[in-house]
Amino acid sequence: MTVLIAGGGIAGLTLALTCHEIGVPFKVFEATSSIQPLGVGINLQPNAVRELGDLGLTGELERIGVKTQELAFFSKKGLEIWSEPRGTWAGYAWPQFSVHRGQLQMLLYRTLTQRAGADCVQTGWRASSFANEDGQACLTLLQAGGGEERVERGAVLIGADGIHSAIRAQMQPDEGPPLWGGAIMWRGTTLAKPFRTGASMVMIGHDTQRLVAYPISAPKAESGLAVINWIAELRFDPHAGWHKEDWNRLADADDFLPEFSAWRYDWLDLPALISGAEQVFEYPMVDRDPLERWTHGRVTLMGDAAHATYPVGSNGGSQAIVDARKLGAAFLQHGLTPAALQAYESELRPITTQVILANRGSGPDAILQVVEDRCGGEFTDIEEVLPRSELEAHAAKYKGLAGLAIAALNRAPRTIT
Ligand SMILES: Cc1cc2nc3c(=O)[nH]c(=O)nc-3n(C[C@H](O)[C@H](O)[C@H](O)COP(=O)(O)OP(=O)(O)OC[C@H]3O[C@@H](n4cnc5c(N)ncnc54)[C@H](O)[C@@H]3O)c2cc1C
Repeated sequence: MTVLIAGGGIAGLTLALTCHEIGVPFKVFEATSSIQPLGVGINLQPNAVRELGDLGLTGELERIGVKTQELAFFSKKGLEIWSEPRGTWAGYAWPQFSVHRGQLQMLLYRTLTQRAGADCVQTGWRASSFANEDGQACLTLLQAGGGEERVERGAVLIGADGIHSAIRAQMQPDEGPPLWGGAIMWRGTTLAKPFRTGASMVMIGHDTQRLVAYPISAPKAESGLAVINWIAELRFDPHAGWHKEDWNRLADADDFLPEFSAWRYDWLDLPALISGAEQVFEYPMVDRDPLERWTHGRVTLMGDAAHATYPVGSNGGSQAIVDARKLGAAFLQHGLTPAALQAYESELRPITTQVILANRGSGPDAILQVVEDRCGGEFTDIEEVLPRSELEAHAAKYKGLAGLAIAALNRAPRTIT
């Protein structure tokens, strides 16, 4: 009895590693013809780092990532609104890591194939539809380039096929494309001097114009320069059209750089940071409405297929990892059954629904707009604009709903025992 996994991204590969750990047979089907290190920066919160540590990957994460030390918010004038320690500096038992998404995916893939054999991931096979038949989950696959069609049968099927999930589309035939609220993100990496602690993640601006930056490598010994990941964001009329969302669409920095020309501070020169990138990628900030249901018999969804959210709050990749581990725990408790899928869904769907909705209100970044509204980003004493108690309450609220409350996470038993 096999777990069929559609999609070899962060979610699908972590689920495959978890199945291997608990001795459950599995097969991964990935649409692309080979797994490539695509994307730029992504953050792994302590709840996900804990799970990757339980999979034996702590040392490798330390090799490919940076332990995020601090999260700090600034007005468009470069003035500090709020900063808080992150990861172990905040009291979590596990660090937060900033990593290159592609390197993380390759780490998961390499570890999986070393542990379970090269043929456990079948690339070049796109999931096209599913059925529940004779007590089994059936997955129809199409070979890349319109070749062969075949059907795989297993005990359960997990749709880990991302924001354009074919499995979800069959469950929700009227849903249509992802939803765009009007923001476009331009993403790049630049070799530059790290700022503040050297491992700080900074959010600058407000709802209609924002920049996020953080290092995803240690500084090089000779130059002191690190790879800085940055995301510049502008908001447009949501009724205007946008290019299809593709994480790898190349863009031109001149499309947005003039808007940031005045954003030069004594601690960070944003126009220089943007201009220093070799490549810039454009992506519309999209999400999907929360679903009433993920599980249909022996088939369920995980990761972005289940709960695509705006990438604010840095928890899309982390939640995909937690999904995988919770599914593994449910398999251990209920076997490879519809009851296991239901137990997993009952625990996680309410949490991810809250996160999707909170992120539509800018999640933890909402304080940026409050400061913009109250003083246009210019202040001498932040206490006069936004009292510290209000800032603390806002930060704690988001952590609570995303499963990141420090004491609760530290106390929680291991997911897979
Ligand atoms: C190319 C790419 C680059 C990205 N870059 C970034 C980034 O820079 N920063 C960031 O924060 N997030 C990025 N993301 C999104 C981020 O990886 C996810 O939000 C998060 O990690 C959740 O992971 P997931 O496995 O659910 O989805 P994804 O990481 O999107 O993985 C889904 C996987 O399923 C495969 N797939 C899709 N359709 C099918 C199908 N029908 N059958 C079989 N396989 C299928 C895809 O090729 C992909 O490998 C990127 C995603 C992709 C695909």
